Amino acid sequence: MGKPTGFLEIKREELTDELPLERIKHWNEFHTPMAQEAVQNQAARCMDCGTPFCHTGANLPSGASGCPVYNLIPDWNDMLYKGHWEKAFKLLMKTNNFPEFTGRVCPAPCEGACVLGINEPPVTIKNHEYSIIEYAFEQGWITPQIPETKTGKKVAIIGSGPAGLAAADELNQRGHSVTIYERADRAGGLLMYGIPNMKLDKQKVVERRLQLMQAEGITIKTGVEIGKDVTMQELQQTNDAVILATGSTVPRDLPVKGRELEGVHFAMDYLTQSTKSLLNSNHADTRLPDRQDNYINAKGKNVVVIGGGDTGTDCVATALRQGCKSVKQLEIMAMPPESRADANPWPEYPKIYKLDYGQQEAEAKQGKDPREYVVMTKRFKGEGDKLTAVVTTQIKWISKDGRMIPQEVLGTEKTITADLVFLAMGFTGPEQGVLKQAKVNISERGNVAADYGKFSTNVEGIFAAGDCRRGQSLVVWAINEGRAVAKECDGYVSIKQH
Ligand SMILES: Cc1cc2nc3c(=O)[nH]c(=O)nc-3n(C[C@H](O)[C@H](O)[C@H](O)COP(=O)(O)OP(=O)(O)OC[C@H]3O[C@@H](n4cnc5c(N)ncnc54)[C@H](O)[C@@H]3O)c2cc1C
Ligand code: SF4
Repeated sequence: MGKPTGFLEIKREELTDELPLERIKHWNEFHTPMAQEAVQNQAARCMDCGTPFCHTGANLPSGASGCPVYNLIPDWNDMLYKGHWEKAFKLLMKTNNFPEFTGRVCPAPCEGACVLGINEPPVTIKNHEYSIIEYAFEQGWITPQIPETKTGKKVAIIGSGPAGLAAADELNQRGHSVTIYERADRAGGLLMYGIPNMKLDKQKVVERRLQLMQAEGITIKTGVEIGKDVTMQELQQTNDAVILATGSTVPRDLPVKGRELEGVHFAMDYLTQSTKSLLNSNHADTRLPDRQDNYINAKGKNVVVIGGGDTGTDCVATALRQGCKSVKQLEIMAMPPESRADANPWPEYPKIYKLDYGQQEAEAKQGKDPREYVVMTKRFKGEGDKLTAVVTTQIKWISKDGRMIPQEVLGTEKTITADLVFLAMGFTGPEQGVLKQAKVNISERGNVAADYGKFSTNVEGIFAAGDCRRGQSLVVWAINEGRAVAKECDGYVSIKQH
């Protein structure tokens, strides 16, 4: 436990962020790390609540609650409070392969389930995770852990996102020879091309981990698409097991009039190209016809982002850094309440209104939150082939046959000037090509059919984990599944005869 009376004496303190109008001038992370003493002080707020919920990862009817990798939060808070940073680090590494990722991008369901959060601001758990792991790197406590004995068993992992990486880490530590195949030119999945650099630094943070894993003996082959460059059959013949960790990458489209106009793009194309260009040339390759990595540039443009989630927010923040003229974000759902609704009690994840980093930046630039709620896009307008506007209408949600459906509010049609539209309305599931070649069964929702806990598909020796199995989710769930599939796969290959 932390200090018995800590939560009574000490107020919650967050990391200080660079001011929005300053940070949109660059692509770097913008949180200033907290001094060690201040972190220890915050850890003192952890109050020995008796039955902590923060680390449970429990599945409630409304969704998961608490930490999905079951981080030993009260234990490391106690170590922090007492100044035992190395012990806190060792406890953290017992449950989470990549705290430097979750400490930056996790939405922290742990804090939503913190007992102190019932009537006070919760403990700053995510910041403690971030502080511990960065201090450990700084102190040189993290060095390549090369397994002493090898089992001679080989496992191929398709996809280098957090699920594939966590599975690789666990299997490698158990002595198996692991090769990760990634079709992109850089490894990391959505950690590399998806989540933008200002949220998760690619060179300082993602590459640091990839290099460590390679030094530990894991082979990462980029630019190799399984199903095209190498067949599933070849992979199965040359390995004892294969893990599918291909993500949920098919974007939801908006098939309204004008969808084909120049200027309407999927959010992932926009975000991927932007990061690739940043890493390749610090954005020097924009719009040059002789360069390969041109990116979609919002400089001087009116931008409309359709979709109010994380991906949409990342588009808003990217467009602002590129120097867009204006940015709006359209959300079909109603604006969430300022505090928990009765139907969303503790310890559920709080579904409340908040200004995420991209919206804070847009508010600072444009004077207000860029989001408009309960808005539906009716069509896109253009001149010639070029997009010029988005036509929207207000909707209300009505109940029909036990389902909530959107109904247009007559007389609310509006035209918004737009040169660029980014579609950020989620993903419908994994791409089917490689799955067909693998002959794995597909669930009703279009994901790979494999039970949580077993992760085995209908095809012997093929396992599945992460977003390709559970649908679009979170980094922390991908790590959970990567760790768990590795355990199952280890059991399988360990008794398999050659
Ligand atoms: C823009 C965006 C922002 C997000 N922000 C957050 C956030 O802030 N916090 C958070 O917790 N979650 C966030 N998420 C969700 C999170 O990134 C994902 O849930 C997580 O990355 C899923 O991990 P994964 O390993 O299952 O798949 P992915 O990360 O999608 O990785 C799958 C990899 O498989 C590769 N692949 C696919 N098919 C093949 C093939 N045939 N051969 C070789 N390689 C292949 C793909 O190229 C990809 O690199 C975000 C998602 C998006 C799209
Ligand atoms: S991984 Fe996420 S849920 Fe777990 S302790 Fe870290 S921030 Fe909280």
